[in-house]
Amino acid sequence: MARSSFYSGAVDRVKMATKYIFVTGGVVSGIGKGVATASLGRLLRNRGYTVAPIKLDPYINVDAGTMNPFQHGEVFVTEDGAETDLDLGHYERFMDVNCSKGSSITTGKVYRNVIDAERQGKYLGGTVQVIPHVTNEIKSLVQRIAVEQEADVVIAEIGGTVGDIESLPFLEAIRQMRTDLGYENTMYVHVTMVPTVGPWHEVKTKPTQHSVYKLREIGIAPDVLICRCEVDMSEEVLEKISLFCGVPTEAVIQSQNVETIYEVPLIYENAGLGNFVSKRLGLEQRESKMQEWQKLVNTLKAPNNEVTIAVIGKYTSNGDAYKSIAESLIHAGIPNDCSVNIQWIESDQLEGDQPPASFLEGLDGIVIGPGFGGRGIEGKIEAIRIARETGLPLLGICLGLQMAVIEYARNVCGLEGANSEEMQADAHYPVIHLLPEQKGITEKGATMRLGSYPCNLVNNTLAAELYGSTRITERHRHRYEVNNDFREKLQEHGMVISGVSPDYRLVEMIEVPTHPFFIATQAHPEFKSRPNRPHPLFTGLVKAALASKKAAVL
Ligand code: GLN
Repeated sequence: MARSSFYSGAVDRVKMATKYIFVTGGVVSGIGKGVATASLGRLLRNRGYTVAPIKLDPYINVDAGTMNPFQHGEVFVTEDGAETDLDLGHYERFMDVNCSKGSSITTGKVYRNVIDAERQGKYLGGTVQVIPHVTNEIKSLVQRIAVEQEADVVIAEIGGTVGDIESLPFLEAIRQMRTDLGYENTMYVHVTMVPTVGPWHEVKTKPTQHSVYKLREIGIAPDVLICRCEVDMSEEVLEKISLFCGVPTEAVIQSQNVETIYEVPLIYENAGLGNFVSKRLGLEQRESKMQEWQKLVNTLKAPNNEVTIAVIGKYTSNGDAYKSIAESLIHAGIPNDCSVNIQWIESDQLEGDQPPASFLEGLDGIVIGPGFGGRGIEGKIEAIRIARETGLPLLGICLGLQMAVIEYARNVCGLEGANSEEMQADAHYPVIHLLPEQKGITEKGATMRLGSYPCNLVNNTLAAELYGSTRITERHRHRYEVNNDFREKLQEHGMVISGVSPDYRLVEMIEVPTHPFFIATQAHPEFKSRPNRPHPLFTGLVKAALASKKAAVL
């Protein structure tokens, strides 16, 4: 085997025109690298380019599906059923693209592929090493997406912070890609934090300098620096960063705090980032069509109405655990010219001594969130009962649908003790039970009903009215379903099954027509909402919440 092919992980140069932007982070984590990556993607989308975002995550989990939302935040699900990091949600929302399984590359996935190949004897007796075998695998996974999605530009964000031991193979791989693909086709963007110290909020550039030194140590010199700073950075500071970090001043972008994250692309565009990146990568200079984005940001910043909607969940102490639901509610405010204040209610609070209704006072609507396991479910059921009896608008999502069915079975159909097999294996009325295809599955990773499935909606239902169609698709992530033995009983008592799988086997949506807005879905509509295309279920909830608020004032 020729030495060059042994060391080069590059896929054949079929699509040399694809440009690669690599985004790294420095100084501290949690400074919005995902939003920065997504915003940069928006600038390219506004210029009409096809962008394929990728997240490279240094953890050893094969995917995020087995991670606890308390620790890691939401698990985002793609159309093709990958359970991924929540940053993919930012990419989809900002860039209005669909990610796929290949958009998420973890250390676990990379090593699994390498070890599988080794077991199959593919390395022909060679010693399998981080360089070149692991780095080659990373490079080929990155480039595969470019081909699959026919991308003009791939934007790959590397999770973690420069200096972390575990991200080194990824950094080495992206360093090699410059040699493989050329300067004109690769670009490095480094996102750092520029802190302020002392009573006069003196801006300090040293941590950014050190972070860039650290990057250079591994052979990467950034082309662009995005600097997060609490205060306005002076020209002098920007010039200092430029000088010490070897990045032209026009490529030192200051990213100050904004009222809404959707403003970030506008800040970058105004700072000239879109033009700089296009020029640097040799892309043709195209006009940036910002009008649609500008308009939605204007509405987000100065809406004429306001509602308060609570998300009742099980992981509300981690603000990121329901990220897509929160964003969907915000998006839904846009067509309603309405800001949505989100209140987080931990469902087990509703199981304490304080009357549960007191938690719902002053709310205009509620979302019953998804979740797993028994903790706090009685609190959810209680919130659903109150909403159903008082006419408070309600949207149930996944576990939310299952709990709405249990509540209805217990309190309307008289099936005392009705429950889900997930919570009580020997429930007398198991109105929610395990999907047949789930029986016998013991492995936890990537084994749920995942990804996009079609659903048929029943004419003249709230669901059909909201979607404006009777054939829809939604993304899923669950193991349990409504037990068909109880369908008739629920319907006899007034619950409408408004969405079913095309083979009629699975209940996908339910509603209570005597209520102003009571609807629940077995799917996760939050994964499909975009600021420029808010999801109809959320838009409907906000509209109903606004109507109920106005009715209460009259
Ligand atoms: N735990 C439930 C199930 O597995 C609901 C899952 C969810 O809310 N995503 O079916």
